[in-house]
Amino acid sequence: MGFDYDLFVIGGGSGGVRAARIASAEGGAKVGLAEESRMGGTCVIRGCVPKKLMVYASEFPDMIEDAAAYGWQVKAGAFEWPKFRATLETELDRLENAYRNTLKNAGVTIHDARATLLDPHTVQLASGETLTAKHILIATGGRPFVPDIPGADLAVTSNEMFHLHALPARAVVVGGGYIASEFACILHGLGVQVTQIYRGAQILRGFDDEARGHITAAMTARGIDLRLTCDVTRLDRSGGAISVTTTIGTLETDLVLYATGRLPNVAGLGLETLGVELGERGQIIVDGYSQTAVPSIYAVGDVTDRMNLTPVAIREGHAFADTVFRGIPTQADHSLVASAVFTQPELGTIGLTEEQAIGNGPIEIYTASFRPMKTLFAGRQDRVLMKLVVDATSRRVLGCHIVGPEAGEMIQLAAIAIKMGATKEDFDRTVAVHPTMAEELVTMRKPARVV
Ligand code: NDP
Repeated sequence: MGFDYDLFVIGGGSGGVRAARIASAEGGAKVGLAEESRMGGTCVIRGCVPKKLMVYASEFPDMIEDAAAYGWQVKAGAFEWPKFRATLETELDRLENAYRNTLKNAGVTIHDARATLLDPHTVQLASGETLTAKHILIATGGRPFVPDIPGADLAVTSNEMFHLHALPARAVVVGGGYIASEFACILHGLGVQVTQIYRGAQILRGFDDEARGHITAAMTARGIDLRLTCDVTRLDRSGGAISVTTTIGTLETDLVLYATGRLPNVAGLGLETLGVELGERGQIIVDGYSQTAVPSIYAVGDVTDRMNLTPVAIREGHAFADTVFRGIPTQADHSLVASAVFTQPELGTIGLTEEQAIGNGPIEIYTASFRPMKTLFAGRQDRVLMKLVVDATSRRVLGCHIVGPEAGEMIQLAAIAIKMGATKEDFDRTVAVHPTMAEELVTMRKPARVV
C-alpha cells in the first residue's frame, strides 16, 4: 500500500527536527512534519535559548560593578526590558527561520498545523486533511504544570516569561527545580525583588547536596529571599498586586511564576484508542529504540519523559532515524549525560552525586572551594566549588560537580574525560592550565573524605 510519507513527525522541536532531517537528507525518506506553534520548539522558542539570553542580560550589573573595582569609570543605568525583549524577539525569529530552512533544505515538507492520530498510519491536520505515513514519530515535548490551587490563573509559567509587558518590581517564584531556580536568579539580576518558595528543605533536589548547599548560600547572599519548607495555598488579586498565601504567612507581589515541573504533551493526540501505552505522568512508553507499543509509532524527547534535556532529545531523534531509515540500529545512550543549571552561580554536573555513590563501594570525595581571582580582586566573596566523586577501587571518576562562573563550559570538557572512563590518576597527570579556575580539577591531591 502506498503512503503519502515514509515518515510523519508531529512536533518541530529539537527531537522532531533532528529526526526529520536525518531521515530525509541521509535516509532518503519522504518526510512530513507538523508543528502547531513556532518551529524550534520549547528549547528555541520558550526555553533554553531565550533563558540563556536572559541570564546574560542579568549578569551585567555585577560585571559593571566589577569593572569599577578594576579601575574603569562606569555608570550603570536602568535596564530597559522592552528593548531587550524586542532584540530577543528578532533573534528568535532568526532562529525559527534557520530551523525552517534546515528542514526545507533537507527536503522535509512542513505543515504549520496541529496534527492528531487517527490510526497507526494516519494523521489528521487541524484543517481536516488526512495524511498517511509508514512511520509516525511523536515529538510533542512537554508543557508547564501548575498545581490546582485557588487563583492559579493569576500565575504565569516559563512560557509567558519572555513576553512580559513590563518587568515587575517584585516577583514570587514557586518551585525548587531548574526553571524556578534559574528564573529566581535571572529576575534578581535584572533588579526584581525575588522571593522563591519551595516546599522541600533544599532546592535542586537530585543534584549533589554539597553543590546545592553552595548554590543556596550564594543565592541567599545575593539577596534572593528563599523560603524553604513552604508552599503556596492560594493566590488572590489585591488591587494591582497579587496576594500570595503560603503555609507560613502571606505576602504581596506583582508577579507569580510557577515552575513546578512539566508534563508530557499527549492530551488530545488520540493515543489512548490506538494502544500506545502511557505512563503515570502521561508519558509515552517506548523501548530503547524509541518504539511504542504500536510498531509504526515512535516517540522521542520530553513526551517520553526519559531525560528531559534538548541534547538528549536530539540524540533520541537521531538514533531513531538511524535505526529506521539508515539501517543502523542505534539506541540513545542516557548514561553519563552532563548538564548545567544556569543559576548564579552556575552548576555544571555529570555522573553520580556523593549521595548516589555512597553504597556503591568505597568512594573518595575530593573538593576544592575557593574565591576565584577575577571576582576576589573586585572585592567579592563568591566561592567556586569543584568536586570529584571517585571509586576508591577502580579509581574511576564517577561524578564531577562544579559550582561557579562558566561551570557549564567546564563540565562539557570534563565530561569527555569522564565518559572515556578517566581515573583520578588521569586527572592528576594532566598538567594544570594556570591561572584558571578549572586547574583545580587536576590539582586536588588528598580526598576530603573516604566513605
Ligand atoms: P523540575 O521537575 O526540575 O522541578 C519542579 C519543582 O517544582 C520541584 O522543586 C518540585 O518539588 C516542585 N513541585 C512539583 N510539584 C509541585 C506542587 N504541586 N507544589 C509545589 N511544588 C511542586 O521541573 P522544572 O519545571 O524546573 O523543569 C522541567 C524540566 O526541564 C527539568 O526536569 C529539566 O530536565 C528541564 N530543564 C533543564 C534545564 C537545564 O538543563 N539547564 C533548564 C530548565 C529546564 P520537589 O522537588 O519537592 O518534587
